[in-house]
Amino acid sequence: MRCKGCQAKATVEVRHHNAAYCNDCFQDYFLKRVQHNIRAYKMFSPGDRVLLVVSGGKDSLSLWDALIRLGYQVTALYIDLGIEGYSQRSGDKCREFAAKNGTSLGTISVKEVWGLSIPEIARKTRRTPCAVCGRIKRYLFNKCALEGSFPVVATGHNLDDEAASLLGNLLHWQTGYLARQQPNLPATHPKLVKKVKPLYTLTERECLAYALIRNIPYLAEDCPYAEGATSITYKEALNHIEAASPGTKLSFLKGFLKHKGLFREYDGEVELRECSRCGQVTTEEVCSVCRLLERAQKRSAAQQK
Ligand code: SF4
Ligand SMILES: [Zn+2]
Ligand SMILES: [Zn+2]
Repeated sequence: MRCKGCQAKATVEVRHHNAAYCNDCFQDYFLKRVQHNIRAYKMFSPGDRVLLVVSGGKDSLSLWDALIRLGYQVTALYIDLGIEGYSQRSGDKCREFAAKNGTSLGTISVKEVWGLSIPEIARKTRRTPCAVCGRIKRYLFNKCALEGSFPVVATGHNLDDEAASLLGNLLHWQTGYLARQQPNLPATHPKLVKKVKPLYTLTERECLAYALIRNIPYLAEDCPYAEGATSITYKEALNHIEAASPGTKLSFLKGFLKHKGLFREYDGEVELRECSRCGQVTTEEVCSVCRLLERAQKRSAAQQK
């Protein structure tokens, strides 16, 4: 197979675009897609300070690399979840990337902030680690962005993540989530920072190819709590369809975004206010993270008596 860009021998096949590229042209293709997504959805401008949440995996580190190469003002934030072994190894990869690129990395540790790790909070509140983790990560990156005066937070969600999330939301008719699912979530309150996903049209496979070509030191292992997650089942189902009909994932997501207006009426005008304890945005008197942490800490204190 020949490279679509220069006719040299191709090394990466991009089946959903019916194309193949050599290593150099694939990098150009990847950077162009990221740049296009940022511009098409007005995610941020070259002068904006962007807070990028990195996990040590191929997606967020590839995005970090791409944003640096595209000349954006990016600051990375690693959230240490306190997951035994895994968090240390994922943090090491982020630190290695930062050192290799002569850039800095901000870190915030869940255990240092609240005295408990994600698995401990999950155990004490009888929730799944993923349910606790998603909520706490969103809370922390919004807080860090506000404190650091960043106008926008970027995450490394890719096409596979977005298509799986869309499938899950449709299967369960989560109309509120469907109304809000988009690659650019504007700030709807002065204390909520805009959130963007510049990789939303790039597949997991494309992010992996970019990370390998760029020699990015990413962590290949999955979080131990990812096993059995429903999102993985949805990804597998979509991969199955994609193999039979390349391009389905992308057209599924793009078609949804095009017709998203159909769900507008479900984007309930909820009244946002500031949590009476921590000041973060919530719809209730006390935010869900403060309530969760209060339960976990009470249980922890009771067990220590
Ligand atoms: S798999 Fe679950 S616990 Fe692990 S990082 Fe992802 S959301 Fe957090
Ligand atoms: Zn080429
Ligand atoms: Zn709160």
